[in-house]
This record gives sequence, C-alpha cells and structure tokens, in this order.
Amino acid sequence: MPDENRQNHHAEPIDSVLGALGSRPQGLTESEAEERLARHGPNRLREAPGRNPILRFLTHFHNILIYVLLASSAVTAVLGHLVDTAVILAVVLANAVIGFIQEGRAENAMAAIRGMLAPHTSVLRENARRTIQADALVPGDVVLLEAGDRVPADLRLIEARGLKAEEAILTGESVPADKGTAPVHPDAALGDRTPMLFSGTLVVSGTARGLAVATGDATEIGRISSMLAKVETLTTPLVRQMDIFARWLTLFILMVGACLLTFGVFVRHMPFGEVFMVVVGLSVAAIPEGLPAVLTITLAVGVQGMARRNAIVRRLPAIETLGSVSVICTDKTGTLTRNEMQVTALVSADSEFSVEGDGYAPAGAVHAGDGRPVDAAGAPILHEFARAARLCNDAELVCADGDWQVEGDPMEGALIALAEKVSAGSGASWAGFARTDAIPFDAAHRYMAVLHHDHEGHAFVDVKGAPEAVLPMCSGQRNGGGGIEPVDAEYWQESIEALAAQGMRVIALASRPMQQDDTVLNSADLERQLVFIGLVGLIDPPRPEAIAAVAECHEAGIRVKMITGDHGATALAIAAQIGLHNTGSVLTGADIEGMSDGELADAVVETDVFARTSPEHKLRLVSALQARGLTVAMTGDGVNDAPALKRADAGTAMGLKGSEAAKEAAELVLADDNFASIAAAVREGRTVYDNIKKVISWTLPTNAGEAMTVVVALFAGIVLPVTAVQILWVNLITAVTLGIALAFEPTEPGTMRRPPRPRDAPLLTGELIWHILLVSMLFVVGVLGIFFYALDKGYPEPLAQTMAVNTLVVLEIFNLFFIRNIHGPSLTLSAVRGTPYVWAAVLVVTVAQFAITYVPALQTVFGTQAVPFGDGLLIVGLGVVFFGMMEVEKQMRLTFRYPARIGLGRGTPRA
Ligand code: ADP
Ligand code: MG
Repeated sequence: MPDENRQNHHAEPIDSVLGALGSRPQGLTESEAEERLARHGPNRLREAPGRNPILRFLTHFHNILIYVLLASSAVTAVLGHLVDTAVILAVVLANAVIGFIQEGRAENAMAAIRGMLAPHTSVLRENARRTIQADALVPGDVVLLEAGDRVPADLRLIEARGLKAEEAILTGESVPADKGTAPVHPDAALGDRTPMLFSGTLVVSGTARGLAVATGDATEIGRISSMLAKVETLTTPLVRQMDIFARWLTLFILMVGACLLTFGVFVRHMPFGEVFMVVVGLSVAAIPEGLPAVLTITLAVGVQGMARRNAIVRRLPAIETLGSVSVICTDKTGTLTRNEMQVTALVSADSEFSVEGDGYAPAGAVHAGDGRPVDAAGAPILHEFARAARLCNDAELVCADGDWQVEGDPMEGALIALAEKVSAGSGASWAGFARTDAIPFDAAHRYMAVLHHDHEGHAFVDVKGAPEAVLPMCSGQRNGGGGIEPVDAEYWQESIEALAAQGMRVIALASRPMQQDDTVLNSADLERQLVFIGLVGLIDPPRPEAIAAVAECHEAGIRVKMITGDHGATALAIAAQIGLHNTGSVLTGADIEGMSDGELADAVVETDVFARTSPEHKLRLVSALQARGLTVAMTGDGVNDAPALKRADAGTAMGLKGSEAAKEAAELVLADDNFASIAAAVREGRTVYDNIKKVISWTLPTNAGEAMTVVVALFAGIVLPVTAVQILWVNLITAVTLGIALAFEPTEPGTMRRPPRPRDAPLLTGELIWHILLVSMLFVVGVLGIFFYALDKGYPEPLAQTMAVNTLVVLEIFNLFFIRNIHGPSLTLSAVRGTPYVWAAVLVVTVAQFAITYVPALQTVFGTQAVPFGDGLLIVGLGVVFFGMMEVEKQMRLTFRYPARIGLGRGTPRA
C-alpha cells in the first residue's frame, strides 16, 4: 500500500475513508472479512525468530563444570587414559542432550500458555456485535472499544465519547491524549492525529467505534518495531538465588580441588595422573550441576499445573508469591458469583412487580404485587422501565440453538431480557430511537446515561446506575398514573435495603425529556433534572465452587475479603451465602476515605466486606494489608484497577471480563474469572515451593555425601571407593533422571491445611540443613561401609568400587521416596505407591545400573565387575535400613514438635 494513502486517513472525512476501504458503518460481512483475512494476513506483528536450536544446544556446554570436564578429558587423553576421556565426553554429551530436550519441552509449554492469553476484540459484522480474536481483524472492520482496551489495529474513529488514549509506546507522551472524529491537517504529527487510534495504545476512558485502516505489520507500531522479542527466561528469585549459589559453590570447589592437587603432588608425592583423577572426581561429586536444570523444569511443571486449573501465570516469580499468599481480596460480581444476572423484582413509586423467566431468554411473565399478570399496556410505568432498560444499554442478546447468551455486560443483558418481557404484549419497538450521545459507565461515578432522538422529533435522556448515584440527580418521581411527584427518599431507601438484603444487585432507572436540537449530553444536563422511574432488582447466585474454595482458603489460614462496587447490604448478603468470616460489619468507600492510613491498617484486618468502593480504594486496601506484613492477592478487571493489581503481591486479572490493561498489570490471569481458580493457584504455588525444596534437599545430600567420601579417602590414603568416572555417571545421569521425578510431585495431602509461609521465610531453614547433614553422613557411612566390607571379604578393588557405586544409587532411590513426603509419613500405602514419574525414573535408573554392573562392554568402560547376588541383596537391605532410620528420625522430631517438619519453617500445622 502506498504510504501517502495511509497517511491521509486522519485528514479525510470518515465517509471517504469508509469508501476507500470498501466498508460501511454496519461493518463487513463474514465472507468479506474472510476474504480480506486471506489477502492481508493475520493481524499480528512479525515475531522475532526463536533462538537457533544449535545455539540453544551449545549453551548447555556453557558452564564452568563442563569446561573443567572438557579440560580433564584433554588431560586424560594426554596421559593416555583414553577410556576415561571417552567416558567423560560421552557423559557430558548425554547431559547436554537431556538438558536440551527438557528445556525445549519447558519452552513449548510456556509458549502454549502465552497463547492462552491471546487478546480478543469486539467488532461489528453485518451490524451485529461479535467478539473475535484480535488476530482475525481485517482492514475495513468496525471495532468497538471501551476504557481498558488495547487498540487492536490502526483505527479511523467513526464515533468517540469521552475518549482518551495513552499513546506512550508510539509518541513517548505519557499523558493520555483526547480523541475525536474531526479530521485534522494532513501534516499533523502522530501525537496530534486525534481522529486516529493506533494499534498497541491503550484506551484509558470513554468508548469508541473505529474503522480498521491498517492491521499487523502495516500499522504504525508494526513499522517501528516489526520484531517483537518476547523471550522470558524461566526463572524466579528463588531459582536465580540457587543458580548463583551453585556458581559460587563451583568456584569454591575448584579452588579446593587445586589445593588438593598441589598437596597430593608436592607434599604426598603421588603420581599426577592419579591425583588429577581424584580431584576431578571430587569436583564432579561436590558440584550440583543438574540442580538448575531440574529447578527450571519444576517451575515449568508448576506453570502448566496452574494453567490446567485455569490460572495463567504471566510473570514467573508469581508462582513463589502465590504459595505464600495470606490474604485474597476478591471482586464479588462474576468471581464469587456466576455473573449470570436475571431481573426478578421491580419497584416503582406506588407498586412492586415480580418478573419470571429463565436465564437471558427474553420471555417470562411480569406479576403485580397482588399476583395478577400485567404488561406495559396495563401498567404504563412498565413501559418507562422497559425503555430506559433497553436504550441505556450496550449489550446484545444472541440465541444459539435455543440458548440465549449475552454479548457484553451480563447485567445489561438481563435488562434487555426485562425490556422484552415487559413489552412483548405492547409491541413496542426500539428501532425508531437513534442514540445521539452517551456518558459511558464508569466505576467511579457508577451510572450510565444516553441521549436519544426519535422520528417524531422527541429527544430524551435515559439513565441507569447505582441508586445513590441516580437519586440525587432526580427532582421528581414518576407515579403509576403517569404524573410526576416529589421524590420520596425514605421510601426508596427502604426499598433498596429490602432488595439488597436478599442479595440482589439494585439498579435505579431515571429519564428526562430534552430539546430536539440538544445533541450533546453533559453531566450538567443530569443534575437535579431527572425523573426517577424506579428500582430494578437482579439476582446473581453465588458459584457453588467458590463457596468450597473459600472454605479451603480459611482452612489454609488465608483470609478472604470481598471488595465490591456494589451496595453494602447486597455485599453482606452474598458474603454470608459464600461463607466469609466477618460478615457482621462492612466498610464502604466513604468510610475508607474518612480514615487515616493507620486507622485503615487497623480496621482492614478485621473487616471482610468492603462495599461501594472505587478502584483507588483498592490501592489503599492493598497497602494497608501489606503494612500488616500480609502477602496480598488482589483481583481486578477494569483499567482503573491496574495500580492496585501492580501493587498487590499477586495481582490477579479476570480473563473473560477483564480489560487488557488489567491483564497486563497482573501477575496471574484467571481464564474462567472464578474465585476457585485463585485457590487452586495458591495450592499449586505451595506445591511448587515444596517441590523446589524437595529437589534441593534431595540433590544436595547426594553431592555432599560423595564429596565427603572422596575427601575421607584422600586423607586416609586409600583408593577411591567410587572412581571419578563412576561419580560422573551418578551425578550427570542418575541424579538428573531421579531428580526430575520430584518436579512432578503432586500436592501433599495436608498442603491446604497448613498456615501460609511467612513472606521472609528462608529456603534453607535449620531443619533443611540438618536433613542435608544427616543424609550426607549416612551416605558416607553406607558407601564406605560396603566398600570396606567388600575389601575385607577379599574382593578385588574394582568389585568393591562397583558395590559402593550401587550402594550410592540405592540410597539415592530410597532418599527419593523419603523426600516425597516431607510433611507427612512416608510409609502409607499411597505414599509408597508414588507417581508414574517416580516409578519410571526408578525403573530407568535400575536398568541402567544393572547394565553398567553386568554388561561386559560397559564393565570395561566404567571399571566395574559383576556383583554377586547375595551382596546385591545386602545393598538393597542397607537402603531399607537407611529409609527406616530416616523415617524414625522424622517421627521423633514430629513427636516433640521440634523444628516442626522439614522445611516447614515456623509454626505448627493446624489440627
Ligand atoms: P462490582 O464490584 O460488583 O463489579 P461495579 O464497580 O461493576 O461493582 O459496579 C458498581 C455499581 O455500579 C453497581 O452496583 C451498579 O449499581 C452500578 N453499575 C454497574 N455496572 C453498570 C452499568 N453498566 N451501568 C450502570 N450502572 C452500573
Ligand atoms: Mg463490575
């Protein structure tokens, strides 16, 4: 497309832009859109090519230990130990291949999860509102936007109301720019093109309707940066810490090794080749080279586990934070409730009506207070209800196979259904009313107003919103006879309380006539000028799974707090149904404003229900809870919720009804908007943290045990009980294979009955260090014991070494079963049954171990000899004894409740 063409969209009247793109204000047809999609390609920015697989493979060799091993293989080659050289190289290669494959799987899993967050957008197709994937947008599409949306393509505005867009990514200007439809000078700079919205910018307020003029790489943002690098490394603070720890440990061990080499050669006058192999053995033994890879996989498994439970992690450190969450602040509507609204009650100045129906189906009877069915013909006030409900509305109802669904806000969908039910008899049609202006709903002012003109030259405003917002704008109320009388504030207040106490959401409707030539609506037109029509009561039942999840959170020591924009009485009624704790009192937004930060911090802990709050209050609430040392998860959906989501420890956005702005500010996105998914994410977060601990407390003792064995042998002046090549085998192959099984460990039974881990709990707690020391000692004793037993029996050295290395692996396997249950007994049926991953890993390692012990070719390579059957049994028996000792030691600690349980940190489990 020639450049001049595109640059003129902002300077031309909308009609000529529509003409140029062959589109209409009603939008394209489906077949046109399909044809254009084929022609223009998907609306997506070209992605930066992924890392080259060969480079990715080579990074697995970029590691000090591998360099040391490669150098050692050169030294052994020079010394003529060609078998050792070959084994070192083969093991290094095998380790890189395992790492490469696992990393690839983790990266694919992450890419799939990112794909679940693909943005959606609303368009008009054949004059019907549709929600489509943003990448299916084509030039000529008519796009509908509201506050919080990311602009999906470059748009020429057809309609804009109170529209402001934040265009910092294009212009660097962080103050939102006002937008309108009037053409501007052709030479206007990007930031001054008011009738345009640019792809990737953010709508911060108002609503808009725009014509897509460029998509994908043809957009302004596409021209600036057609490459979008989105590579996030798979890491969290904890894992990064372990990585750094492992690196320093490596350096330390290499220095120790150098000292030992000097000591052996110059003080002990041992042959260089022999000491060198001992030092290589020590380095390999002590360095936990497999650990970082296994931790990465643990994280990837955790992220996948959460995604399966509809909780999508956007920033990886959130996995750790989620495990320590101690307060969840949640929205009510749609998160604790189903967000399936239905109007069941109407209250006018002099009568009450009940409304029947099923879901959003626009059919159902309306009954007067005395039980007789009525319609708009019988009660004119119902016509007022229906008109305001229908016209002050942006949603649409669609029927697919007899099933009615809402496109847009569910509450507005329920109001359309109401209007249809009321007017079914009267034949009222709303097609003759044309909307000329509107004030969109905003959570800060809590109402929405529209201005309409009809064919007969009448103009009027309809308003709907929270009663507290609408009542003060009214100067009168409409009565059943069609007359207007003064507002009876007391009557309305009682009616509101009565509806809200039943858990209903209460919406007020009002209207006023306007002059025919009034085409612009200002909030001044509403002030004390409206006539109150009445109240609408909507039910929105709690989600049953949310009730269960709230109970689970309470058991896990997590407080649940409801923060809603709804009326206090409605919030309290729902809170009681959901099972929140302190449902006796409620703090409103106005109360919060009257408090100092200190007072709020005191009140916030005891109160569980917050009503009539606006997004700024959420930010203060998060800060107040954090001031009390609590780790806060906070949900949000609107553009104004972004600061509170950013501030929260685990900001959680709604995947379905949430705005792009909220999702981008959040750490976690709920694919189903469901509170139960937050509880599931916390559970997974705790599991991942446990598994990281398990991986560490399984890996480190193995390394420490091996290293101590080597050091003991060196100082005792005896031959190594396990040769360097064998240690290499155990650490780079066996340990990684077994360790990965821990990444897949399921949640331990009591996980959601423990109190949350304190924010600053150290990973390496006293008990963990004690465990590592104890197991290392047992490893040394076991390996040396078997080795000396074999020598004592007169076995040749290679056979004694073979028995020692097999002991090491058997102990690793038993330790694996022990570690699987750090919080409970390991000797229950289900604990021993294990997971398929554990058994697969054990099977692979056992077969491999038999192979290096009994296959002659491998015997030459690893310097092993066939172990007699009886001695094999002895080794396994040693493992059983070891397991028993560990288990008894754990039970002893549990009995005295001293240091509670391995890795649990402070606090004892609740009964
Ligand atoms: P919630 O926390 O329940 O999501 P909101 O902030 O969405 O609450 O809404 C607060 C109040 O604003 C509602 O109780 C209702 O009275 C009013 N309201 C909500 N949505 C609309 C709308 N689309 N039009 C007019 N008023 C609305
Ligand atoms: Mg809401």
